[in-house]
Amino acid sequence: MTDFREHPDPIRFNVPSIEGNELAYLEQSLRDGHTSSSGPFSARAGAILREESGSHEVMLTTSCTAALELSALLLDLQPGDTVVVPSFTFSTSALAFASRGARLIYCDIETTTLGLDPKHLAELLDESVRAVVVVHYGGVACDLDGIRSVLSERPDVVLIEDNAHGLFGRWRGQPLGTFGALTSLSFHETKNFTCGEGGALLVNDPTFVDRARILYDKGTNRRAFFLGQVDKYSWVDTGSSFGLSDLLAATLLAQLEKAEQIQARRRHVHESYLAALAPYTELGVTLPSVPEGCDPAWHLFYVLMPDKPTRDAVMEAMRREGINPTFHYVPLHSSIGGRRFAARQTDCPVTTDVSERLMRMPFFNGLTDAQIERIVDSFARATRAAVG
Ligand SMILES: *Cc1c(COP(=O)(O)O)cnc(C)c1O
Repeated sequence: MTDFREHPDPIRFNVPSIEGNELAYLEQSLRDGHTSSSGPFSARAGAILREESGSHEVMLTTSCTAALELSALLLDLQPGDTVVVPSFTFSTSALAFASRGARLIYCDIETTTLGLDPKHLAELLDESVRAVVVVHYGGVACDLDGIRSVLSERPDVVLIEDNAHGLFGRWRGQPLGTFGALTSLSFHETKNFTCGEGGALLVNDPTFVDRARILYDKGTNRRAFFLGQVDKYSWVDTGSSFGLSDLLAATLLAQLEKAEQIQARRRHVHESYLAALAPYTELGVTLPSVPEGCDPAWHLFYVLMPDKPTRDAVMEAMRREGINPTFHYVPLHSSIGGRRFAARQTDCPVTTDVSERLMRMPFFNGLTDAQIERIVDSFARATRAAVG
């Protein structure tokens, strides 16, 4: 595999950017001295997320993975319990539940949104299922109508949104991240809004709020103490150290304050790719489509190539020209870790097919029109050569 960085003017897949007051807030946080979790910057960043989501509680966490682990703890999983997860997702959408004792059932995706396929979900739901995890791939809502209709028969099953891609996206006007009882967000370096490593848990089902606060605070009722609900605080339950440092919350706040600017820039990148790549559908390239009623969060831009050999050849040719496209994801149902934690084997043919043909283009706030042009030219050359 060619190292694209040997090119004199490489285009990386992702480049995080400073968008506003990051440095000033960081300095203020250091000088003021409240740098642990639940400080003043956490409160301000949390307020922006609460304004968007209307969630009962917003808790900034060290990562999206940590927020998913906190969700898993809240489920109080028992031996024999299972959780349905898409096979087409990042490892920790599944691992967070497996590491808290659940066995996993891998569900396939549908081809329009690359989100969970409700038909397959209906086949998989049995008495053992405690929760279903959905992902809004690339920030496009999964088939929420279909999924909620399947789950309407099973009110005991908890819907969890891994909304790592979807912050500020909407479905029929309602924000992504407000459909699940519990929702996780990611502020990892590769996401739309970043503080390096970070995340959040949105608690949309009020019955989880009190216990979520305890688990978040290292198993203590410290939050209830500060709210004046108890007169001293001590260890009362399980939990962990989930809180995001206020230093990182300061960085995150500066990014969230520029949400409109960031999302507009990413939308421009997305639409530029879509327009410039439209002619290549004739070569068998499939471009992403946005279903009616979806306002995407513009997290990424992918294309589906006709087959795996073409995809691999095009990616290699682009790397030789200093550009770094990437694939997504190795299917969980056939991965080593995924198989280890599976409740049983399931077939996910769409996931396997998509993961072999998908490539993501470089995508970040500061990607210039000239860079997009160079990427599209390189893609076009490589694709014509590969399909002959
Ligand atoms: C990035 C990502 C995660 C993990 O996020 P971290 O903040 O790195 O823990 C989980 N799920 C999905 C779908 C992701 O894209």
